[in-house]
Amino acid sequence: MKTKLLSYESSGKAVIRKAAEILRKGGLVAIPTETVYGLAANAFDPKAVEKIFRAKGRPQDNPLIVHVADFDDVMDIADYIPFSFMQLAKSFWPGPLTMIVKKSDKIPDIVTCGMDTVAVRMPSHPVARKVIREAGVPLAAPSANLSGSPSPTCAKHVMDDMDGRIEAVLDGGECEVGVESTVISLAGDVPLLLRPGIISKEEMEKVVGFIEVHKAVYDKPEDGEKAASPGMKYIHYSPKTEIILVDADDEEFAGFVNRNADNAGAMIYESEQDLFSVPTVVYGKKGDYDSQAHYLFEALRKTDELNVKTVYARLPGQTGAALAVYNRLIRAAGYRIIKP
Ligand code: AMP
Ligand code: MG
Repeated sequence: MKTKLLSYESSGKAVIRKAAEILRKGGLVAIPTETVYGLAANAFDPKAVEKIFRAKGRPQDNPLIVHVADFDDVMDIADYIPFSFMQLAKSFWPGPLTMIVKKSDKIPDIVTCGMDTVAVRMPSHPVARKVIREAGVPLAAPSANLSGSPSPTCAKHVMDDMDGRIEAVLDGGECEVGVESTVISLAGDVPLLLRPGIISKEEMEKVVGFIEVHKAVYDKPEDGEKAASPGMKYIHYSPKTEIILVDADDEEFAGFVNRNADNAGAMIYESEQDLFSVPTVVYGKKGDYDSQAHYLFEALRKTDELNVKTVYARLPGQTGAALAVYNRLIRAAGYRIIKP
C-alpha cells in the first residue's frame, strides 16, 4: 500500500475532505491531535477497526479510545452518562482527558475488546475536530505508532512506523502536549485513574473529589494479573536503546553518568550539556513537566541515534504532571531503576 502524506498547512480543507472520505470508506488515516498522532478508523465499522490492530501489531485485548467532536455524539457511544462525566467534560473538554463509561450497543466489540465499557475523548486539536465532523462518525484511534514503540508527536514519526501500512497520514504539525491523554474510569463507584496525563489527578479532584489511582500507574503489573486498563501491561514506549532510570538528585545523576560513561548516553534537561561527558538528548526544561512531556517521545526516539548501549535518565517525581512523565519513562525503561 502506498501511504499518502496529506499536508493540512498547504492544502487545508481539501485534505480534510480526503481524509474523511478514506475514513468513511473503511480506511485508516493517521491524524494530528493535541496529545500525539492517532491512527483513526470509523468506530462504528468493525472491519475498519480491525485494520488498526493489524497495522500497529496491537495486542487484541488492548481497547481503543473513541474520539468525538461534539458532546451529543457521546450519546451514541455511552450507555449512560454519569454526573462525574458531565462535570469533568465541562472542565476539561475539549482536551487531553479520556473517560471510561459503560458502552452502548452501537459500539462494536472489537473497539472495546469485548469489555462492557468504552473510552471516550473529545480532542481540542482543530484538525482532529474537523476530520471527525467531516467524516460524520466517531473515530476509534490509538496512538499511530507500531505497538511498543514511542508514540508519534509529528507526521515524520508516523511515517517512520506506518509507511506502507495505512492509507494516509494527515500532517497537522507538531503535537502540543506530547504525551497521551489522561485516562480515568467512571464506570465504578469511585473514579479510578488508569493512565496519568497532563491533566493531573490533583486538578480533577478539585472537580469530582477523591480519585483512586490504579497501582499499575506506578509499578509493574504482576504476571497474570487482570489489567483494569489492558494497555498498561504491555512494554511501551521503548526505543531500541536500553533506557535505565537513576533515582538521584541532579548532581548525583551527572556524577553517576560520568562514572559509567562507557558506551552510555543520557537524557537531560535544557542547558545541562556541559555537565555530561557522554552523548545526550534533551527533553524539556528542569522542573517544567509540561515541557518534558512535550519532548519526551521525540527524545526517546532520538536515543537510537546516539549509538550507545545504554541511556540513563532521572527518575521523575510522582505528583501533578510529573506523574505523566514518570509513567512513560518507567515503561520505556522496562522498570529498570538504579539507586547509586
Ligand atoms: P492508546 O490509544 O494507544 O493511547 O491507548 C489507549 C489506552 O486506553 C490503553 O491503555 C487502553 O488499555 C485504555 N483503554 C481503552 N479503552 C478502555 C476501557 N474500556 N477500559 C479500560 N482501559 C481502556
Ligand atoms: Mg499507544
